[in-house]
Amino acid sequence: MEADGFDLKSLLDPEAAGEVIRVMQICNACRYCEGFCAVFPAMTRRRQFDEGDVGYLANLCHNCGACYHACQYAPPHEFGVNVPQALAAARNDSYAAYAWPAPFAVLFRRNGLFVTLGVSAGLALTVGLMLAMIAPQLFWGVHLGEGAFYRIMPHTMMAAVPLAISAFVVVSFVMGWRRYWRHTGAKWGGFADLVDAVKASATLRHLGGDTSSGVLSGPGCPTGDDGSNNARRIYHQLTMYGFLLCFAATSVGTIYHYGFGREAPYGYFELPVVLGTIGGVILCIGTAGLFVEKRRLHPSVRHDDGLGMDYAFIVSLFFVSFTGLLLLAVRETSFMGVTLAIHLGVVYGFFLILPFSKFVHGLYRFAALIASAGEARRS
Ligand code: SF4
Ligand code: SF4
Repeated sequence: MEADGFDLKSLLDPEAAGEVIRVMQICNACRYCEGFCAVFPAMTRRRQFDEGDVGYLANLCHNCGACYHACQYAPPHEFGVNVPQALAAARNDSYAAYAWPAPFAVLFRRNGLFVTLGVSAGLALTVGLMLAMIAPQLFWGVHLGEGAFYRIMPHTMMAAVPLAISAFVVVSFVMGWRRYWRHTGAKWGGFADLVDAVKASATLRHLGGDTSSGVLSGPGCPTGDDGSNNARRIYHQLTMYGFLLCFAATSVGTIYHYGFGREAPYGYFELPVVLGTIGGVILCIGTAGLFVEKRRLHPSVRHDDGLGMDYAFIVSLFFVSFTGLLLLAVRETSFMGVTLAIHLGVVYGFFLILPFSKFVHGLYRFAALIASAGEARRS
């Protein structure tokens, strides 16, 4: 047991971790899937597997299902090897294990419900407070030009809430990352590993079924009917880049505000609006696509316990971008006040639940990619 109460040895559910160790031992003798993804090369570098290895391999897997469809030992074979499902169960468990503050780990248990309630509470509270505190003629009035949003909600308040939430989210992410790193025994091998992980994330090359390069021409994920396509990879990329563009739009808006004394809303062709509009549109397409792809996932590969978490996160992210676009569309009408309240409510709720949602998948997967790049370089 470590000083902060973090026990490195018994973090994961023994049943889920045990099943990963069992199938990995079979796979390590077979090695048929060696070139499928980053999991199998990492597996071959080990003779024995401990709990830390389980946390590492589980977060290195992107649940494409290729190894299940190719496996001669999959059910109904008596070995019953189902690598994607075993890793998915351990991966979901690892989110709770690395969560900070630790008592909040319980929020990963019925995560779909928690995320839905968290975002709804943010929405209800913001809309309710604004309706109660702002005079109706102001709330339902038409406000034009720079500073229009701040006639509904003062900028100090609009910025203070996300600032307070962000401080908590950043600390929670740093602590979660630290827990993951220590539990898995990952080693920092230098900036070359970081660059490799950034490249793998930027191109999502593993989702293309290509472990060696960044090209977009890999076969993609199996569809379960002997085919494969790149749909998951494309929707993942749209979601990731859409999110980053929206983040960039907010950052540029902040520079406009504090650096140039310019107040939102900005013109339709100004940088914050252009970045936010493109980001919002591709984020809507990406999340809608991921929702459809999730439903299409082969039942044998899918881990049903984690579905609520996946759907709730995807839908919340969709609403963050959709309400942002809606605000852009109605900002010069009397619906601006209510749409601003709804958008802010969804955004506040979404950011508050971030450390206890599927978002942590990006965090731990990135850490696993850094560790994997280092291992590959050293071996
Ligand atoms: S998933 Fe099946 S085929 Fe692939 S390495 Fe493991 S045991 Fe072999
Ligand atoms: S499901 Fe895909 S990513 Fe996961 S271990 Fe199998 S081949 Fe690798």
